[in-house]
Amino acid sequence: MTDLAYHDGTLRPLDQITVGIRTHALHYGTGVFEGIRAYWNAEAEQLYAFRLADHYARLCASAKVYGMQASLSVEELCDVTIDLLARNEVREDVYIRPLVFKSSETMGLWSRGLTDSLVIYHVPLGAYISESGIRCCVSSWRRPDGNFVPARAKISGIYAGMALARREALEAGFDEALTLTTHGKVSEGSGENIFLVIDGKLVTPPPGDDLLAGITRASLIELADAELGLRTVERSVNRSELLVADEVFLCGTAAEVTPVVEIDRRPVGDGEIGPVATAMRELYMRVVRGTHDDYLDWCRPIHQGAHPAVTAADR
Ligand code: PMP
Repeated sequence: MTDLAYHDGTLRPLDQITVGIRTHALHYGTGVFEGIRAYWNAEAEQLYAFRLADHYARLCASAKVYGMQASLSVEELCDVTIDLLARNEVREDVYIRPLVFKSSETMGLWSRGLTDSLVIYHVPLGAYISESGIRCCVSSWRRPDGNFVPARAKISGIYAGMALARREALEAGFDEALTLTTHGKVSEGSGENIFLVIDGKLVTPPPGDDLLAGITRASLIELADAELGLRTVERSVNRSELLVADEVFLCGTAAEVTPVVEIDRRPVGDGEIGPVATAMRELYMRVVRGTHDDYLDWCRPIHQGAHPAVTAADR
């Protein structure tokens, strides 16, 4: 039997949820979605969903940008997700995918008054890209200008471009694509934000450079400051800085913290995984798995009564 999934108010086996061929979102990319990880902590016998409410707040914001309704409040979305994971008795690392989409079966771009549907399901997920240092290229495909498709919203249609960039990179033998803005500034990876280490500081492009303001990115900025004494400068980054940075790493819910050892066939720093990326990755992995007491309020426990010490509510 397949796992249950949530679909417009009901829980049903995932393989029984289907959409019609004329569904608006299928043709025009009119959906908004999230990617959330939940980590299994074997010692505590607990599953922790990382920054669950923050992801759902972003889903609702994405829906608002697009004039859609998530149909549930942030707290209700959290509750439904917790219920789903608990009922499916999940005891492994999973990736949770909520999607709000225009489910009416109509032709044409006019989207007002159409039905918005909500699905939430999960799949097992280990490492998304290699943890041992990846090789990137700067893509020939550019991140679209925010005045065409707003980057702050995680809109399905925008990923058509990201998929082109990722495909180009993989077919050329790289592990991931880095995109530039239409003005030629470094924006982000196809599904990750980017950090550079320059002169002992972290540097990352600002949301104004047409990137998704990642929840991992925000977590790392906070963790770097509080735990490693590293300040982050948010500023536009020139392409050439990728070639002279001491270290570069990508981050995202799926990618976690992924060190970059080569860009456009040139070594980053000395071509080895650097100390800052190593420290950030170790710290982040402790935090998300619920083994760092100071950040338990980022980790929403799923299974009731699994571990008495863990009572923290999500932010
Ligand atoms: N940028 C893009 C384009 C993404 O798809 C993602 C993944 N959601 C990110 C950045 C990282 O965001 P987060 O840390 O919230 O997963």
